[in-house]
Amino acid sequence: MPNETPGKVQRKRKVEASEDKAIKEKIRKAETVSRNERQKKEMTYFNTELNKLAGSSAIDELAVKCGVCKGKKVIAGDHTVSGKVQHFLINHFEKCQEKHDRLRKSASGSKTIDVLFAIAQNSHTAQQDQQPFLEPDIQNIEEEFSNIDDV
Ligand SMILES: [Zn+2]
Repeated sequence: MPNETPGKVQRKRKVEASEDKAIKEKIRKAETVSRNERQKKEMTYFNTELNKLAGSSAIDELAVKCGVCKGKKVIAGDHTVSGKVQHFLINHFEKCQEKHDRLRKSASGSKTIDVLFAIAQNSHTAQQDQQPFLEPDIQNIEEEFSNIDDV
């Protein structure tokens, strides 16, 4: 990732931020989203970066599908693409992968893992449905992620 301090939240330029805000509004309202060239490139870059994390992918500007647990993770706050990838990495992916490795080591059969992750995924989905796209706030992202991860 170019020129960014790991773990440091990067803010966007004003124009880009308002363009992206418009898109996020549409995603929240489930309206059709039309992206400009920069935003298309950002989505491609977002996807490329996420793919390096066990094949995770971008659902849209606000949400990521984790390649390990297949759960949907909402990225709160207004970040650059690299900032969003960092957030996902630090607040979910590292813990998720660690948990997955631990389960794999302790479980006697792979069936157990599948069952556990199916349960985990169902509870994610349920929580997400009850609280769709809360107004994002950087201060509570840590909490938001850890709540989702409690299984
Ligand atoms: Zn995960």
